[in-house]
Amino acid sequence: MKLKILVDNQALPGFKEEWGFSCLVEAKENVLFDTGASSKVLAFNAEKFGIKPRQISKVVLSHDHWDHTGGLDWVLQNSSVKVFVLNSFSNETKQRIEKKAELVEVSKPVKVSKGIFSTGKLSNSIDEQALALKAKEEVIALVGCSHPGLEKILKKVEEHGRIRAIIGGFHDFDKFEVLKGIDLVAATHCTEHKTEIQGLFPKAFTECSAGTEFEF
Ligand SMILES: [Zn+2]
Ligand SMILES: [Zn+2]
Repeated sequence: MKLKILVDNQALPGFKEEWGFSCLVEAKENVLFDTGASSKVLAFNAEKFGIKPRQISKVVLSHDHWDHTGGLDWVLQNSSVKVFVLNSFSNETKQRIEKKAELVEVSKPVKVSKGIFSTGKLSNSIDEQALALKAKEEVIALVGCSHPGLEKILKKVEEHGRIRAIIGGFHDFDKFEVLKGIDLVAATHCTEHKTEIQGLFPKAFTECSAGTEFEF
């Protein structure tokens, strides 16, 4: 399984940076997790990786914030994609998708593709879903902004097996002890306490930018 970071607040040379997050999961099917803030940057970085909208089968939107849904139009050029959103997303976002592709509304945990599972709706002030990716017997947690609290998300992801890696935005997460034992911590996008996390887990901490690729 390969993960390619398409959009992030920072970028490797040759890629464009933007406040937002998007990651392509290449497994049995290609599943796009979030779309960044704009079609322009998503299209540019995807092109750099050689990825076209028609190569994507499914899209999962973590939550209904512009920096995760902004690039939707790029992937909706492929009318055969299935887009998984939470049932609490705004009608505006739902209609935007329904006009062009198939909309799947999620509240409970659901299988998105082979080895790719949504945590279902996790709530706090903002509803969000994250992905549990099965890599052999272990699991990779792929998160958007972690608004409901990363500890809550990890608990749900852990139901699928031992968490080997976590990738995405941690927001203001500060219950650092829950990261103990995770081999790879790629805290990026909106993560506020990046320096502390890097200091506490120097071996696990991994820099992550648009253009970064992971293989599990
Ligand atoms: Zn957000
Ligand atoms: Zn965000």
